[in-house]
Amino acid sequence: MKAKSIFKTMSPYKPGKQVDEVKREFNLDRIVKLASNENPFGYSKKVDAVVRETANHFEIYPDGYATELRQLLSEDLKVDPDQLVFGCGADEVIDIICRTYLSEGTNTIVPDPTFPQYKHNALIQGATVKEIPLVDGYHDLDAMLVAVDSQTRIIWLCSPNNPTGSLIDQQTLEKFLADCPSDVLVVVDEAYMDYVESGNKVNTIDLLHNNPNLIIVRTFSKVYGLAGLRIGYGIAQLEVSEALNIARGPFNTTRLAQQAAIVAYQDKDFIENTVSETIKNRQTFMNALDQMNLSYYDSEANFVFVKLPVSGDSLFNYLMTEGFIVRSGEALGHPNGVRITIGNADDMQILRDKIQLFL
Ligand code: PMP
Repeated sequence: MKAKSIFKTMSPYKPGKQVDEVKREFNLDRIVKLASNENPFGYSKKVDAVVRETANHFEIYPDGYATELRQLLSEDLKVDPDQLVFGCGADEVIDIICRTYLSEGTNTIVPDPTFPQYKHNALIQGATVKEIPLVDGYHDLDAMLVAVDSQTRIIWLCSPNNPTGSLIDQQTLEKFLADCPSDVLVVVDEAYMDYVESGNKVNTIDLLHNNPNLIIVRTFSKVYGLAGLRIGYGIAQLEVSEALNIARGPFNTTRLAQQAAIVAYQDKDFIENTVSETIKNRQTFMNALDQMNLSYYDSEANFVFVKLPVSGDSLFNYLMTEGFIVRSGEALGHPNGVRITIGNADDMQILRDKIQLFL
């Protein structure tokens, strides 16, 4: 029973402390979880009704083509329906990409730090991972291109990047794609793109026309608030999307997730409200950090990475006793910092007072 040898160097995913566990441990009535970049405003009110209507006939497999959702997105994004690949969260889309394009003898290039699943899945496929350090929180795109060799199959860009929140702007991305060898895939993970200020938004869909090596990854877990239902998608030119659709499992998204995604996608009021509140609260929080003389990475996402004069763990542990769960930088390769999801205005006000007290 020998797993691939790489498994000896890896460990299973362990979630942070659960809300109920923290409540019990510290005898607290209310916990504010700002650790996983979830949506503090929940999700569209229209979702519950459609989920109730759909919650039946569990003996029947879901529509493995996600026909209705595929139609809706392809019309809205103006792409061919077959250019889309759905997954059990963007997590699974990332895994499918790795299974399709990586194997022993190949390599892939990732920024560091970034969302860990690119590296995790690449290693499982036997590929070598070249990690290129961020510079001031931003991707070092030149160094990423220099790292390309004849065995490079995928370059991962996370924009805005988790955990720094930094964005690769339109012009920079276009230049990068022009400079990148056309046989190397470029994956742009846009999990947090909805939170970018409108003037800075990057239009990646249009770039698909001229870049057959581009894959865009998106999720319903963030602005749409459906993290618990697990659904995300990739968009690419047909040659790539067809390979990905071959690699994915036939019934990898549930009927509940598909139907919820359809109504969530169409509830523009909820999305606009989530985005405008998040951007407002993010700015207020960053201003408060300035006043406290704390530095941070300028974020275009629904979180801010705060650099600290103390260890990330010490603030993390203190905030937990006060009812706030954040993410310590320790686990993200940045020991002297914490990543904090932007919550609602009242909670953010309480949180910054607590940070000030602690420091
Ligand atoms: N990409 C990034 C950058 C993320 O931060 C996350 C989740 N935190 C994902 C992808 C995975 O999202 P999903 O819930 O859709 O699997």
